[in-house]
Amino acid sequence: LTERMRGFGTTVFAEMSALAVRTGAINLGQGFPDTDGPASLLEDAVAAIRAGANQYPPGPGVPELRRAVAAHQQRFYGLDVDPDDVLVTAGATEAVAAALLALCERGDEVVVLEPYYDAYAAGIALAGAERRTVPLRFPGFALDLDALRAAVTPRTRVLVVNSPHNPTGTVLTRAELEAVAALARERDLLVLTDEVYEHLVFSGSEHVPLATLPGMAERTLTVSSAGKTFSVTGWKVGWVHGPRELVAAVRTVKQFLTYVGAAPFQPAVARALGRPDEDYAREAADLEQRRDLLVAGLRAAGFATSVPQGTYFVVADAAPLGFEDGYELCRRLPELAGVVAVPLAPFHDDPALGRSLVRFCFCKRREVLEDAATRLARLG
Ligand code: PMP
Ligand code: GLN
Repeated sequence: LTERMRGFGTTVFAEMSALAVRTGAINLGQGFPDTDGPASLLEDAVAAIRAGANQYPPGPGVPELRRAVAAHQQRFYGLDVDPDDVLVTAGATEAVAAALLALCERGDEVVVLEPYYDAYAAGIALAGAERRTVPLRFPGFALDLDALRAAVTPRTRVLVVNSPHNPTGTVLTRAELEAVAALARERDLLVLTDEVYEHLVFSGSEHVPLATLPGMAERTLTVSSAGKTFSVTGWKVGWVHGPRELVAAVRTVKQFLTYVGAAPFQPAVARALGRPDEDYAREAADLEQRRDLLVAGLRAAGFATSVPQGTYFVVADAAPLGFEDGYELCRRLPELAGVVAVPLAPFHDDPALGRSLVRFCFCKRREVLEDAATRLARLG
């Protein structure tokens, strides 16, 4: 393994999911729903296979999906996106990696929020770039604007933003995003914004795409994916849009990572993006109830928790239960309580920040969350 990828080993998600399989514990670690997306969506993919969508689709993605992404951005956010400036990728993961590989020279710096989704760190390393982090602190996870300002240097090439944010579940406020935008304009930075949880936002919060803020569309690559929105994380249909020359750069790299995305899923996702607003809202409202269920269960078990405004993750502090090391707790949690969670430590550079924190995922059926809550009560 190359030096730049040393330290990435096996992802903590894979490690914890394997632990769940081995022990039969309830897996609230890796984020994936236990109910598949809408039946019509699944049927559309089957129909696409039957109709012969089984050979290489066009490199940038099927036109139907690129048009649907543009229409979605217009409908929900008033963003004017030309379908020609949409690139379909193998999940948001490929979009992120291809963008970092396309934009960063060796030695460039990339600023990420900490805790950071592990794929950003790996993408930065693949590109030979260097990571600078801006801490979000439990339990409020507010953006520290002074720290953000301090993280930007003359070598900063890209600012990676992720809201709603994994793993904290925080949704950056409009004011926070405006401050990010002001800094990006002032320092002439490119911004890569990962908005895969854009539709998983709860009452009282609002998802503000960075590209909608003044002066941002021309410097922002916006990434999203069908996985979370439609509960099909295994389909790996993602996309990125932004200024033509930046998307062209990402496309150049993407060609040699996967060449094209899987054909039959693309028309199906294109149709799903056109679902009525109520369908999107219903999913979020339903998820919010399950958030409340898990948060209540974790608190009853003795954890201190944040209350996530989006995503399907809640962060819990195990220190009140006497566990200072979240990684150790996660390794023992199947035996102690029959549940699997994910430690936050691997998403931090500063070990002190995430040490006793663990992430639980609530995109599971109600009865599963209730069962998990009952089991976790054993910890107290
Ligand atoms: N970004 C974030 C913040 C995520 O949480 C995930 C998935 N867990 C991804 C990207 C990857 O999305 P995809 O499966 O579409 O590659
Ligand atoms: N995004 C999901 C999570 O955060 C899955 C990540 C993964 O398996 N790489 O849990």
